[in-house]
Amino acid sequence: MSTKQEKRIAEYARLFRVKPGSKVKLGRDFDPRFKADVARKKDGAELLGRGIALLADYQARLAAQDTYGVLVCLQALDAGGKDGTIRHVMSGVNPQGVAVHGFKVPSAEELDHDFLWRYARRLPQRGQITIFNRSHYEEVAVVRVHPENLDRQKLPAESKGAGVWARRYREINDWERYLTDNGFRLVKIFLNLSREEQRTRFLKRLDLPEKNWKFSSHDIAERERWDDYQEAFSEMLSHTSTRWAPWYVIPADRKWFARIASAVVLANALVEIDPRYPTVSRAARKDMARAREVLLSQAPDGAAADPFEERLARRRRKAKRRDDAHETGLVAAGVSDGKRGAP
Ligand code: AMP
Ligand code: MG
Repeated sequence: MSTKQEKRIAEYARLFRVKPGSKVKLGRDFDPRFKADVARKKDGAELLGRGIALLADYQARLAAQDTYGVLVCLQALDAGGKDGTIRHVMSGVNPQGVAVHGFKVPSAEELDHDFLWRYARRLPQRGQITIFNRSHYEEVAVVRVHPENLDRQKLPAESKGAGVWARRYREINDWERYLTDNGFRLVKIFLNLSREEQRTRFLKRLDLPEKNWKFSSHDIAERERWDDYQEAFSEMLSHTSTRWAPWYVIPADRKWFARIASAVVLANALVEIDPRYPTVSRAARKDMARAREVLLSQAPDGAAADPFEERLARRRRKAKRRDDAHETGLVAAGVSDGKRGAP
């Protein structure tokens, strides 16, 4: 990829980053309808397509290198668009390299452990991208808004008094730093939805029969706690956006834009990791050369010594002819060379 493209991805991602140490107030600091310089959904589709292709390429290298792992944490209010974002953003990557885990109300077994246990069990392997659909951040979001959840966690008395949230922020930051130091990169995305757009999406679930299954009266009850969630998420963003694992607040009122922005943020992390295909050692190369000689010597009468090489050459000639034709067509249409491919 060109450095120009990399720079542009980095600039774009920066638009959404929560500066470590800054004090965030969601309603004041982030606009759920922001769409940067992407004017229309149509332009967005093209951008997303390119982003998805880019992710596929980087994921292949991440897997081959087998050194770094990536953990995407997706948080949002109900109807924020987490599922659709996962579906679209990851649509081009090799399913073997990706895992998705959703976290719901904790089970009895999970409550019998420390609060990070169930998340630690689902961390990515090296070379893998894992997506948390809800994450350990529920432990300072829903658990904070409904403290009865904390009561269920069976904490000893000395661990649940005042200061429990500040302590959890610190523990989460420490844990994430540990992961980062060991080659696991976190990409934390908060899909920022407006109250009015949430109302519309809930109504959609009631209006369309094929969406009815998504409706839950529990969501309506949670909506009553809107301000408390905004406050809890603002606190979370203020305390856990760190140098090693910053938060990205993605405007989520337009689904198509949320998907582009999420793809950009993930792509930026991968660009920074810059995974490379492993190169083979000199000894292995010698070995390969010997194997090649053996295979060439086994060509039956009349067959090409290396049929694959011939196929490759044919393919290259065909591609070149296509490029030349395309070039001629573009010149005829008056499109200047410099404009093509510019993001
Ligand atoms: P959904 O993602 O719509 O299937 O809903 C999952 C539910 O699990 C949501 O209502 C979350 O608030 C809830 N949930 C997720 N993690 C926790 C947690 N650690 N403690 C309590 N509730 C949780
Ligand atoms: Mg739900």
